[in-house]
Parts: sequence; structure tokens; C-alpha cells
Amino acid sequence: MSNTDFALAVEDLTVSFDGFKAIDKLTLYIDKNELRVIIGPNGAGKTTLLDLICGKTKASHGSIRFQNTELTRMAEHKRVRLGIGRKFQTPSIYENLSVFKNLEVSFPKGRSVAGALFFKCDDTVKARVQVVAEEIGLAELLETEAGLLSHGQKQWLEIGMLLMQEPELLMLDEPIAGMSARERELTAELLQRICKNRAVIVIEHDMDFVKQIAHKVTVMHQGKILAEGSMDKVQNDPKVIDVYLGH
Ligand code: ADP
Repeated sequence: MSNTDFALAVEDLTVSFDGFKAIDKLTLYIDKNELRVIIGPNGAGKTTLLDLICGKTKASHGSIRFQNTELTRMAEHKRVRLGIGRKFQTPSIYENLSVFKNLEVSFPKGRSVAGALFFKCDDTVKARVQVVAEEIGLAELLETEAGLLSHGQKQWLEIGMLLMQEPELLMLDEPIAGMSARERELTAELLQRICKNRAVIVIEHDMDFVKQIAHKVTVMHQGKILAEGSMDKVQNDPKVIDVYLGH
């Protein structure tokens, strides 16, 4: 497979903060429709890697290509338009608006929040809201005020708001933090559904959840890749046990 067949190609990526290399010559390829989980000890560089891919942080060296487009120096908002979505741990839903309105205002080039409150929704947007609501399991709660949702439902809504933009790469940071056992199960199912149409990268610490969802696991340590492959392969790797799983 040539490097251009991947959804995402990160090559020789380095970023330094005051001389400290948080990411150090890292190379990583993600396939289309792949669900990749990134694990590793605190400070390994996992968040920084996602920051570099979404454009929140700019690389010192190396390259990031997304579907053959060079991203390395591209502004963050342009990467969003290209189809890169990132969900942070802190929720950013509109608590006073319904689930429907939250999704509606997330439609690309959609109306402002104020506009969505007062005007009738266009049919294309409405159809898209319906599809996304089903994908995230909230189709029965479209009229519910977002602030009344459970913690897990709020997280799914936020994923839905990103899906409204039809991302081709979705990045999630610890998506099950604070969720109940049932919500974790439903999140695993949700992730399996959404990676059918896009690549997904998840940072996760809960190994049972990683086993459930990962197509492939990347283990990071000190800004580099320590191991990569199936969960079975990496969890039996002595280097991984030594720096991460054995603790
Ligand atoms: P992880 O997500 O794996 O816990 P991070 O990517 O948050 O790791 O951090 C990797 C390293 O880079 C840490 O040592 C962290 O202190 C450092 N780091 C991250 N962002 C910055 C920054 N903006 N300025 C200075 N150091 C940073």
C-alpha cells in the first residue's frame, strides 16, 4: 500500500516545547474506516499528537497528510472544513437548547444559535439531524433540553454535533470518562457504528474498553511509538508491560 492510501499519514513528526521533545520523530498511518486507540502513560504525548493533527499545536518538524492533503502548516479551522473533527473532554453542548437544536446549529454553514431558535429548520438539515440522532442513539430525545440529559447522553450529543459536519477523521479523548457501565457499552457500539464511515482515533486508559473497540492499538512513551498492533500483541509486549500495563 502506498502512503497515499491512508486516511492519515503522520511522518517524522516532532514538536518541542522549550527544547523538550513532546513528540519525537513519530510516524503513524491510519487507514480509512479504522478505529485506532492510542494508549500510554501520562505525559507520553498522546494529547499533543491529537493537538498536532487538529492544528491546535504546530509541528516543529515532519509532516501530517490527510487524504493526500498536506496539513502540517494549515490553520485549525481549515482542517475542520477538510473533515477533521476533535472532541475534547470538557463538554461543549448548549445546555438550554433541545437535542435537535444542538445538532441543527452544528450543521456546516448552519444558522447561528440565535437563528436556530427562531426559524424553521430547512429540510436537508432536518434529515441530517435525524440520521445523526439515530447514529448516536438519541432519536427519541430530540425535543429534550440538552441540560437534562445524562452524562453519557451529553457525550454522545457532542459526538453527534461533530458528526453533523460529516468528518472523515474523528478524534476522541477518553470518551467513556465518568460513564456508567451501560453507557460504556453503548459508547462501544456507537464507536463501532461511526467508524464504518470514517477513521476514528481514541485516546483511552480503560483497557477493557480498549479491547472491546480497537482495531489496532498504538502505545506511546516519551513522545515515540513504543509498540503497535493488535491489543493481543501489544499487551504481551514486555516493553509495554514494563512502562505501562505492569503499573
Ligand atoms: P499525555 O496526553 O500522553 O498525557 P501530553 O501530550 O499531554 O501527554 O504531554 C506530553 C508532554 O508534553 C508532557 O511532558 C507535557 O508536560 C508536555 N507538554 C504538553 N503541552 C505542552 C505545552 N504547551 N508547553 C509545554 N509542555 C507541554
